[in-house]
Amino acid sequence: MHEFSTAVSIVEAVKKAAMSHGVAKVVGITLQIGKLSMLNHDQLLFGIEIASKDSAVEGAKVTIEPLPTKIRCRKCGTESEITQEGALYEILTSLTCSKCSTKDVEVIQGRECIIKDIQAEVEKT
Ligand SMILES: [Zn+2]
Repeated sequence: MHEFSTAVSIVEAVKKAAMSHGVAKVVGITLQIGKLSMLNHDQLLFGIEIASKDSAVEGAKVTIEPLPTKIRCRKCGTESEITQEGALYEILTSLTCSKCSTKDVEVIQGRECIIKDIQAEVEKT
């Protein structure tokens, strides 16, 4: 359960951030998820819902923004953004440098799952 363990660590991180800022209730979370992270968004959202039960994060609206895949050529160093849509294995097997067309490239972005933003209600004193 890749998604569930990711969901738990997201919720833990948000809880920690909320606590250190004296936040009573987290109302929204914005995540950036790379296509190559192989995370199923629906399962992730479901996991977050479960993991945030009875905490300050419960009921927070989770927004997922896709993070573009970026590669760097090992031969000429050119960085390109992959805009190709389709199945993951198709994308992975067709990664080529936009300049010299070699397949000797490394993925520099696209596997991440980042908490970009947390919207919260601050506790009234
Ligand atoms: Zn190249």
